[in-house]
Amino acid sequence: ERKSLVAGNWKLNGSSALVNEMNQALNACDFKDTQVVVCVPSVYLGQFSASSFDVGAQDVSSHESGAYTGEVSADMLAECGAKWVIVGHSERRTYHAESNAVVAQKAQRALEAGLIPIVCFGEEESIRDSGDYVEHCVKQVAVVVEHLGIERFAQCVLAYEPVWAIGTGKTASPEQAQEVHQKVREFIAQKSAEVADGMRILYGGSVKADNASELFSQPDVDGGLIGGASLKADDFKAICQSA
Ligand code: 13P
Repeated sequence: ERKSLVAGNWKLNGSSALVNEMNQALNACDFKDTQVVVCVPSVYLGQFSASSFDVGAQDVSSHESGAYTGEVSADMLAECGAKWVIVGHSERRTYHAESNAVVAQKAQRALEAGLIPIVCFGEEESIRDSGDYVEHCVKQVAVVVEHLGIERFAQCVLAYEPVWAIGTGKTASPEQAQEVHQKVREFIAQKSAEVADGMRILYGGSVKADNASELFSQPDVDGGLIGGASLKADDFKAICQSA
């Protein structure tokens, strides 16, 4: 049985006031068997006093240390209280030209520092329309599997985020999400049935309080990665409680 997981991704949003609001709102909740994570701009990591949830970052340097102005290393994130880090979000891939190889390197750095990488993958609308979306998604995941090896890959969490569903209000249907999650799990099973069975695959893209439970009830959907709706304590709590 895979433990459900709901992760918020604040992106470039939030403030100290929102940190305080989430500390209060989320610590007052018992999320039972659902693991809850809030991924925030890394400058806020140290301001959390999370007890019912974990905090995470949204990106990590692919380098360990050195002359890389502006970068933040995995060790630094861990030292500031992060337990998780998103890698390969489509916004990083698009606006910061992150290749599959860079994403794999970032996942490696995260694991070396004891962080759990949430490795994102997903197709753009044109690829969905072309019909080749499963191959595209499997390829993105395969590069990470090959780089880490299946044993280390087993420590990651995956997140399927179809680009056309991010911030658009156009959610993938439960069936569309399930199809990709199942195909990616089948790909992992070719390497190891055990790893495939234990791998948590989150869905992200316009998840809201009113569509979360339908998505999360799909057999291969193990929770969600939540953008916009993670910025409002009540919405985020409701989503966490429907996992
Ligand atoms: P939205 O929930 O705002 O569509 O964002 C999804 C996302 O990108 C989470 O990482």
